[in-house]
Amino acid sequence: MEKKARLATLCVQAGHEPKNGEPRVLPIVQSTTFKYDNTEEMADLFDLKKEGYFYTRLQNPTNDAVARKIAALEGGVGAVLTSSGQAANFYAVFNICEAGDHIVSSNEIYGGTYNLFGVTLKKLGIECTFVSQEASEEEISRAFKPNTKALFGETISNPGCRVLDIEKFARIAHAHGVPLIVDNTFPTPINCRPFEWGADIVTHSTTKYMDGHATQVGGCVVDSGNFDWEKYADRYPGLCTPDESYHGLTYTKAFDKMAYMTKIVSQLMRDLGSIPSPHNAFLLNLGLETLHLRMPRHCENAQRVAEFLHDDKRVAWVHYSGLPDDECYGMAKKYLPEGSCGVIAFGLKGDRQTAVQFMDSLRMIAIVTHVADARTCVLHPASHTHRQLSDEQLREAGVAPDLIRLSVGIEDIEDILSDIRQALDQL
Ligand SMILES: *Cc1c(COP(=O)(O)O)cnc(C)c1O
Repeated sequence: MEKKARLATLCVQAGHEPKNGEPRVLPIVQSTTFKYDNTEEMADLFDLKKEGYFYTRLQNPTNDAVARKIAALEGGVGAVLTSSGQAANFYAVFNICEAGDHIVSSNEIYGGTYNLFGVTLKKLGIECTFVSQEASEEEISRAFKPNTKALFGETISNPGCRVLDIEKFARIAHAHGVPLIVDNTFPTPINCRPFEWGADIVTHSTTKYMDGHATQVGGCVVDSGNFDWEKYADRYPGLCTPDESYHGLTYTKAFDKMAYMTKIVSQLMRDLGSIPSPHNAFLLNLGLETLHLRMPRHCENAQRVAEFLHDDKRVAWVHYSGLPDDECYGMAKKYLPEGSCGVIAFGLKGDRQTAVQFMDSLRMIAIVTHVADARTCVLHPASHTHRQLSDEQLREAGVAPDLIRLSVGIEDIEDILSDIRQALDQL
């Protein structure tokens, strides 16, 4: 495909380029294993001397084609699919961290990632310091330690809908000689490509807009290839010194810009094995083929809903970066000029029970533990996704107890608005 193909073309065609007589549609290679004619050939694959397929836990043609499409959309040098967004964020960090290391993360992140960083990584000996992403560069810099290995944030936070100042975060990360990892799940590369703003690694929960139909749970890690690991070789021994589990091969020397990706696949996938099934990758690919059509519609509908809620007297507050008086409006103008996403955070006047009553009165809009798909849905994080967090942790994670997360779908806007209107009328 043309190197300069535009986003819409990449959504439809990137990753799978059939040769003469091959299937036009990406085939599902539902096979754990691959056959070779002699022992030598397979031995070379195990030594990473040759590229090729031998076992689906490491690589699979269907999974790889979809990963190539996402890498092309983000403008990265390579990508790997994972079995979930959780696995993607874990791998992105664990690929460059080990026991005794430290990371810095925005506190405005998905509840699952907050737990992963604050609780589970800690059990593995990796500490995380959470910072407010609105704090000054000096303040955020104070969270860094000699053993800090990465800085993390979400382009648009789930569920708070805050927009990250990616350039500021990139400046801080690079001043400390560490990469910036950005979870770009909510805007998708259709609305923001964090590499263009200095991020080094991008992660996704492909479960959300990329799939768009709520058919598979999946994730993806994409590398820009831009971070100079060798410059900080002492900080990243896993990439810059010989790997005993690969006959003393050094990733940066053997694979240059593909060092980070090769290590994720050949080490983390080999040992931890969070791969998606090829069938799930196929479903994800169907979603990606229409991503460029769905995202603008999500944004258009969400803008209308946000404006409606903003003007309704029963609504206490609304966070949607498309509203001119939203705190993130300026940031969104810069990083998300084509639109942000379909997710809105808002609170109703009244107490916790008011939120519950509103949600229970919705007819078409469903209460589901999901976000960012074609069907409009709603969730109350304090009583659902974030219920394991204490009130203090909730506030730290930027989640107000009355926050309702409304994920606006691609149905007819009049039907979405009338359902919200009738539910509000029942309060
Ligand atoms: C959902 C989500 C995740 C976790 O992804 P799963 O696919 O559910 O494991 C991570 N980050 C963000 C921003 C998400 O919305």
